[in-house]
Amino acid sequence: MAVEDIVIVGGGLAGATAAKTLRAEGFTGRIVLVSAEAHHPYLRPPLSKEYLLGKAGEEALPVVPAQWYGENDVELRLGVPVTGIDPAARTVGLGDGGRLEYGSLLLATGSSPRSIPLPGGGLEGVTTFRTVDDSRRLRAVLAEGGRNVVMIGSGWIGMELAAAASTYGNTVTLLGRGEVPLGAAIGPELGGFFRSLHEAQGVRFRLPASAAEITGQSGRVTGVVTDSGEVLPADLVVIAVGVAPGVSLAAAAGIGLKNGILTDASLRTDAPGVYAAGDVANALHPFTGEHHRSEHWSNALNGGKVAAKAMLGQDAVLDTVPYFYTDQFDVSMEYSGFPTLITGQPAIRGSLEGHEFIAFWQREGRVVAGMSVNWPRSSRPGAQKTIKALISARTPVGAEALTDPAVPLAELLPAP
Ligand SMILES: Cc1cc2nc3c(=O)[nH]c(=O)nc-3n(C[C@H](O)[C@H](O)[C@H](O)COP(=O)(O)OP(=O)(O)OC[C@H]3O[C@@H](n4cnc5c(N)ncnc54)[C@H](O)[C@@H]3O)c2cc1C
Repeated sequence: MAVEDIVIVGGGLAGATAAKTLRAEGFTGRIVLVSAEAHHPYLRPPLSKEYLLGKAGEEALPVVPAQWYGENDVELRLGVPVTGIDPAARTVGLGDGGRLEYGSLLLATGSSPRSIPLPGGGLEGVTTFRTVDDSRRLRAVLAEGGRNVVMIGSGWIGMELAAAASTYGNTVTLLGRGEVPLGAAIGPELGGFFRSLHEAQGVRFRLPASAAEITGQSGRVTGVVTDSGEVLPADLVVIAVGVAPGVSLAAAAGIGLKNGILTDASLRTDAPGVYAAGDVANALHPFTGEHHRSEHWSNALNGGKVAAKAMLGQDAVLDTVPYFYTDQFDVSMEYSGFPTLITGQPAIRGSLEGHEFIAFWQREGRVVAGMSVNWPRSSRPGAQKTIKALISARTPVGAEALTDPAVPLAELLPAP
């Protein structure tokens, strides 16, 4: 390969978006995308929502259509893990024995589910959840209904899976370490909102609780014993206790790490010609002056774009306000902002009971994060647009104006 050629490690949203952006920006050199997964790059958010629920089919998953890669001369090596990087020689080693030289290298290795060392963790019917294969397997079981499902972990994925499992008519019990689900992400009041939402649909919570043991018979799971000794019957156990960034290649190559792969705002690592994007990158954010690692869809999308442009020598930085969303039962939630900047409890406009509200979090009077639930799409300006504009403006806003429905969102927006 010629030195200007680009190798992308990881066929998730960040890697595939980088390939797409490189071609869109006119790069004519060779692009090789190497991914351990045998599938063409796909989107993960539908896996625990509409795809799992059978409301969306295969068409909802691809980042770009499969034929796009051939049409755009992007070489795919699917089902092939990269086994090592040599930043001095600018080469990567492949699991099939091959080796690639690179001019620029993008590490978009994403993250993988954390495991917990539990007795019985290897029984049939105990699983983590990350891939399209996981989603297909789970759908086949959940769609039959009538099963006892125990979810270990009360974060976003655990809650989405609980909602889907319950919607299919299964009995779901969810264990979490906090007093409320999602408490670490959105605090006690809004965590309580999601708990009530689930309880109204029959989901049962054990909080705070953890699993001490998974029991089984003839190699198959039969139950979960909690740390208080309660035995929960289970036909299926999903361990959803968070993810760990895929840093092993970077670590072995001596690339700087701290909660992921450390990068500057242009997603450059400390190794010449090596970039990182998506879940794995802990990137300097110009807004806060701190490093942020985000395990969300929009970060992979925007990071893939920025890394591609930076590799082409453009002056690109990842400066978007972090954003993510979730869908659970009848609730569509969107969140923008910087959770690490939050001090105190949110100011709420609208009604939690009515499942239609915006929560604004502030720091020293300035909005630093906001979450909208079922806020009407017809709202002009939209809730997320308002939240992002308020964050970017850094202008103090009174909590009364934020919460008063008589003050239109448009009046909260900073003057242009
Ligand atoms: C079930 C689920 C639901 C989600 N829902 C939402 C949501 O509603 N909203 C939201 O904002 N975010 C959501 N997310 C998070 C979002 O999907 C991730 O942030 C996003 O997928 C990250 O993309 P990525 O490209 O960085 O990494 P990944 O998608 O993890 O892709 C990384 C790829 O790299 C490959 N790889 C790793 N190591 C190697 C190696 N050594 N060699 C070759 N290939 C390698 C992996 O196999 C994988 O294919 C969800 C995630 C999951 C799992």
